[in-house]
Amino acid sequence: MATAPIDLRSDTVTRPTPGMRRAMAEAEVGDDVYGEDPTVRALEARVAERLGLEAALFVPSGTQGNQLAIGVHTRPGEEVILEEGSHPFHYENGAIAALWGAQPRIVVGQRGILTPVQIQAASRGNDDHLPRSRLLILENTHNRGGGTVWKPSVFGDAVAAGRSAGLLVHLDGARLFNAEVAAGVPASTWARLTDSTTVCFSKGLGAPVGSVLAGSKAFVAEARRLRKRLGGGMRQAGILAAACLYALDHHVARLAEDHENARALARRLAEIPAVRVELDRVETNMVYAEVPVDAPALVPRLRAAGLLVNSVGPHALRLVCHLDVDRPACERAADILRASLEGK
Ligand SMILES: *Cc1c(COP(=O)(O)O)cnc(C)c1O
Repeated sequence: MATAPIDLRSDTVTRPTPGMRRAMAEAEVGDDVYGEDPTVRALEARVAERLGLEAALFVPSGTQGNQLAIGVHTRPGEEVILEEGSHPFHYENGAIAALWGAQPRIVVGQRGILTPVQIQAASRGNDDHLPRSRLLILENTHNRGGGTVWKPSVFGDAVAAGRSAGLLVHLDGARLFNAEVAAGVPASTWARLTDSTTVCFSKGLGAPVGSVLAGSKAFVAEARRLRKRLGGGMRQAGILAAACLYALDHHVARLAEDHENARALARRLAEIPAVRVELDRVETNMVYAEVPVDAPALVPRLRAAGLLVNSVGPHALRLVCHLDVDRPACERAADILRASLEGK
C-alpha cells in the first residue's frame, strides 16, 4: 500500500483541520468591500490588537500585504532598504519595481539580520543626485535566513537606526507568530515599533488563505484603496477570516511542536555523514541542509521515495515542519534522505 508522501516543502501545504472547516462553514458573512463582513472585521480588530497597532486589513496573500505597504509608504524613484534574501525582494517577482516604481537597495545580512551600522550606511543623504531613502523592510522570522528570530533588542536597535535616518519601517511578519512562540514574547514586541506589519495565516497557522496588514488608521485606509486597485477586495471573505480566527485561537501555541520537530529532524540529519546541518541555526520550524550532490537533481529522487522538499541552492535543501507532519514523519524524512544519499 502506498503511503502519502511526507511534505516538507513548506508550511503553506497544511490543510484546514475539521475544526477549522466547521468554523468556516458557520462564519457570519457580509460584503467586505462595503465593510459589512463581521468576521473579517473581527479578525482585523484582533490582529491589530495583538500587534499593538491601530488598525488592520485582511488581504489574500502575504505578498499583497507587503506590496500594499510598499505602495502606501513610497513614491516612484524612492528607495526601499531591505535584505538580499528577504521575501519582498527575492520572492515577489520584482513587484517593488513593477508595481510602484520604487528602487530596492539591497543589504546582505547575517542569516537575514541587519545591523544598525548597515542600515545607517545604506540610507542616503539629502542630495539632488541621490534617490530618497524612504522605507526599511525587516523580516521576522527570516525565511531564507533559516527561520531566524530577531532578538527584540536587536530589532529595536535596527528600527531606531532606520528612524534616525528618517525611514519608515515595515515588518514582513509572515511567520511572526513563530517568532512569538520561539522567543516567548508577544508579537507586538516587534510589530508595535513599526509603521506597518504583515502576518500570514496560510503558513504554519494552517489556514487555507489569508494574511493581515496592520498599521495606523490612516495607513490602513490608504492600503484599503490600493487593495481594491490590485483586485484584492473580497466579498463574503468571512469564510476565510473565520479560518484565521480559528488559527489564532488553536494553532499559535502549538507552533512550539513544529519547532521541536524541526530540531529533532535537524539532529537526525546531522547524524548522516554526508549531510551538513548547523543545529544552532534551527530556531523555528525550518531546517536548511547541505548535501554533497546536486540538490535540484536530488529532489525528484526524494519525491519518488516519498519525501517532498525544496532545493534552495546547488547543494542546499530546505525542510519545513508544520501542522500536518508529526515527529515520526520528520524522523522518517531524515531516514529517506539518508537512504537516498547512500544509494539504497
Ligand atoms: C510566504 C511568505 C510571504 C507571503 O507569501 P504569500 O504566498 O504571498 O502569502 C511573505 N513573507 C515571507 C517571509 C514568507 O515566507
